[in-house]
Amino acid sequence: ISAPPPDAPIGRTKDGGFSPYAGVRFFRQLPISQRTKDGLAPKYVEMSDIQRASLPHSLCGRDILGAAKTGSGKTLAFVIPVIEKLYRARWGPEDGVGGIIISPTKELAGQLFEELKTVGRLLQHMDETPNFECSQLQILVLDEADRILDAGFKTELDAIISQLPKRRQTLLFSATQTKSVKDLARLSLKDPEYISVHAES
Ligand code: ADP
Ligand code: MG
Repeated sequence: ISAPPPDAPIGRTKDGGFSPYAGVRFFRQLPISQRTKDGLAPKYVEMSDIQRASLPHSLCGRDILGAAKTGSGKTLAFVIPVIEKLYRARWGPEDGVGGIIISPTKELAGQLFEELKTVGRLLQHMDETPNFECSQLQILVLDEADRILDAGFKTELDAIISQLPKRRQTLLFSATQTKSVKDLARLSLKDPEYISVHAES
């Protein structure tokens, strides 16, 4: 799947099918809460290619395997579905951990948390929730998944995944497409959408 061209008619997918959000260009056209729209504007108006290609699927609850180069806006491609999922569920601190975002380094985790805070006011409680209970987890994100799946992180990742319920949404984003079937099996992906966005040459 790739992003539709900027002038694609709304609703028409590239293969001639129909999706209500195919061809949308702007964040405000997405089926997201007004609070999230207010958090995005005025800084974020038009979606990047990876956002346009993945958000219509991730917002419907589908698992995603997304690849797009560094700087293409992958953070918002997972931050928005996490926030919306928990917002729709009226998630609160007493519900335990609703979403987990795993990032390969502390520095990257810090950066993405800054981006998440600009969009998600709801998240103000989450970094200090006293209840680190994961049995109700709704959504798991692996940012820079190819780096996390590198040998060095495999043991830690397995330890984390084994604690999480299998019934959840999972989003994987990286700069290169992760193809290892074994890795994907460990993550219990359900019929994921493979989305790869490459720069025009
Ligand atoms: P990646 O994770 O793919 O390397 P980032 O998510 O870190 O990319 O985004 C790179 C930069 O682009 C960030 O500064 C981010 O705020 C900005 N950005 C992301 N999406 C948009 C957008 N739709 N419009 C404008 N700027 C954006
Ligand atoms: Mg990133």
